[in-house]
Amino acid sequence: MKNNIHPKYYRAKVICLTCGNTFETGSTEPEIKVDTCSKCHSFYTGKINITADTGRVAKFRKKLESVK
Ligand SMILES: [Zn+2]
Repeated sequence: MKNNIHPKYYRAKVICLTCGNTFETGSTEPEIKVDTCSKCHSFYTGKINITADTGRVAKFRKKLESVK
């Protein structure tokens, strides 16, 4: 690899805001926050779960309500 043309590559810490799970991945950001992860997403758990309300989900629900 050439020097100085690539962004810094971190072992990024991913934090799930819903279940608090953390894991590592490679990224150009040192820290990543996610609303859901493979530990708590309903697709994997088979349960309907409530994700941490960080604003985006609430906004989407409101949009859904207005369409009904
Ligand atoms: Zn999670």
